[in-house]
Amino acid sequence: MSWEALLHDSVSTIEELTEYMDVNDKDRRVLEKICQEHPIRISKYYLSLIDRNNAEDPIRKIAVPLTHETHMAGHYDTSGERVNTVLPGLQHKYRQTALILATNECAMYCRHCFRKRLVGVDTEEVIQDIPSVADYITNHEEINNVLITGGDPFTLPNERIEEFLAALAPIEHLDYIRFGTRVPVTFPKRILSDENLLSILKSHSNKKQRLYVVTQFNHPREITKKSTQACKQLQEAGIIVSNQTVLLKGINDDSNVLARLQRGLVQIGVVPYYVFQCRPVKRVKKQFQVPLYEGCKIIEETWAKLDGHTKRFRFIMSHPSGKIEILGMRDGEFLFKYHQAKNPKDYGRIFTRRVDRTATWLDDLEDGS
Ligand code: SF4
Repeated sequence: MSWEALLHDSVSTIEELTEYMDVNDKDRRVLEKICQEHPIRISKYYLSLIDRNNAEDPIRKIAVPLTHETHMAGHYDTSGERVNTVLPGLQHKYRQTALILATNECAMYCRHCFRKRLVGVDTEEVIQDIPSVADYITNHEEINNVLITGGDPFTLPNERIEEFLAALAPIEHLDYIRFGTRVPVTFPKRILSDENLLSILKSHSNKKQRLYVVTQFNHPREITKKSTQACKQLQEAGIIVSNQTVLLKGINDDSNVLARLQRGLVQIGVVPYYVFQCRPVKRVKKQFQVPLYEGCKIIEETWAKLDGHTKRFRFIMSHPSGKIEILGMRDGEFLFKYHQAKNPKDYGRIFTRRVDRTATWLDDLEDGS
């Protein structure tokens, strides 16, 4: 079967889901309503990773909605993406980086997604005109890298991926291009069954800007033979694969699980890059956010279990004002540092906030000393 046919064969309704696992009758109508606004899509591969007899299974919670998704506290745009949009589908928040929203489609609609507002639903936020986006980047010599994301750019046809690469190739000041994709984790067949995709990526990486894939493994059980093979094929095509994990309540909020995950990634040659504090997204916040106090402890314990090479990842909060590194706690205060900043004056700035054990986001905290 082609990858397109396999993707089409994914579970995309609650009714189909009931063929594979029990869904409480009382919840069913609520879940169906949730899915009208935020669809489900679970590939047969990812479905095979779920322990169907365990309602608390972490892999299940990533893919299958719960009635918690009716909680509307939070925002849909937690990192200020709209105000940083300079053209449809193009964001320019940090000086050196341009971010392209290439599609609103994903191989799986992760329940914790921070772009819930646009994935799998009608949106005007994705790119409409590649040449005008390429012109913008050409005219901004301070941009040295582009992140092509979405949605998941590897759900696009090869011709479209080639179009992006062809438009960016002549831009001399670009050092590298990243694809933000969960396909190696949720739908590895996209990579394993399509040599053409790999040869497009390989030929670009060899001749033009270096290519990176930034993926998102959140649990050690996502590291399987198939996802490992998908990463390996990307690596053999000359692509550097790195990983961003999201810290998620009930999924990986345990230092043993996180340490196992990071070790597993290093074993398969995937570079640990960030662990993100889950954003306060509507329908996500209540179910998945871990308080910062607990998060700091979990990350410290995780680092203590890892060697220097494996613990290279930073614990990050992606805030409208910048990427803020969560350094830890000292004397009743959280310590933060701007790793990337919207306002260049903030670069590297270290600041504190008083510890609040229930707070989950910077905006919940009061000024430190
Ligand atoms: S693959 Fe990425 S963009 Fe798509 S739903 Fe999952 S987290 Fe969101």
